[in-house]
Amino acid sequence: MRADRQDDIYREQRERMVREQIERRGIRTPGVLEALRAVPRHLFVLPDQQTYAYSDGAMRIGHGQTISQPYIVALMTDLLKLQGGERVLEVGTGSGYQAAVLAHLAEEVHTIERLAALSDHAALVLEELGIENVHLYVGDGTLGLPDQAPFQAIMVTAAAPDVPKTLLDQLDDSGRLVIPVGRRFSQVLEVWQRVGVRYEQEAVTAVAFVPLIGEEGWPEETRDRSFLW
Ligand code: SAM
Repeated sequence: MRADRQDDIYREQRERMVREQIERRGIRTPGVLEALRAVPRHLFVLPDQQTYAYSDGAMRIGHGQTISQPYIVALMTDLLKLQGGERVLEVGTGSGYQAAVLAHLAEEVHTIERLAALSDHAALVLEELGIENVHLYVGDGTLGLPDQAPFQAIMVTAAAPDVPKTLLDQLDDSGRLVIPVGRRFSQVLEVWQRVGVRYEQEAVTAVAFVPLIGEEGWPEETRDRSFLW
């Protein structure tokens, strides 16, 4: 099939994904819907999985990790309530897809991944797409990026046993942090907002993410049992 015809097919699949998986489940923020329509998700999945890139679920990306379900990407993005001028920290670069979505809505995205192979691959895809406002780091994201803090928004895309105190400290005043918190195989998506010296917390919905492994996350040995989002 000709490449431009294939691109048209993926564009149609993206439109349908946004209509049927995102809008139908209640996400209406125009910028978020536009970002999901714009980012070619098929470029972030494994080459032999591209046909399924717009299906309604998480997918494996190698190294025991996953690219999250499109609806969860949209929901977590929506919960940050980005206005356009923010510096955002993402913990868990994975494929780079979520970072590309955030890059459409914020000024700068700083994304940190503990597995260098995933970070390197994400960097290649983002470069190929000409996305220049994403900065990639390899390391333990539970410790955030002290040199770049404060952030107006932080998104953690792996599951933590508790919200890392260091990340809360790196939130700007009024900044919002979205994170799955709970047990190894089931968590609650939480939103934390800094209000001066206090934090307001809201529980949103049940989720199941791969573990956040690091100093303020789970210990290393939990890695191999990772599954789902
Ligand atoms: N946001 C990703 C995307 O759009 O493809 C999906 C992220 S995947 C569900 C979770 C990622 O978090 C994995 O790539 C995993 O290696 C990473 N991770 C786990 N613990 C981490 C840590 N302490 N610091 C940085 N990344 C971590």
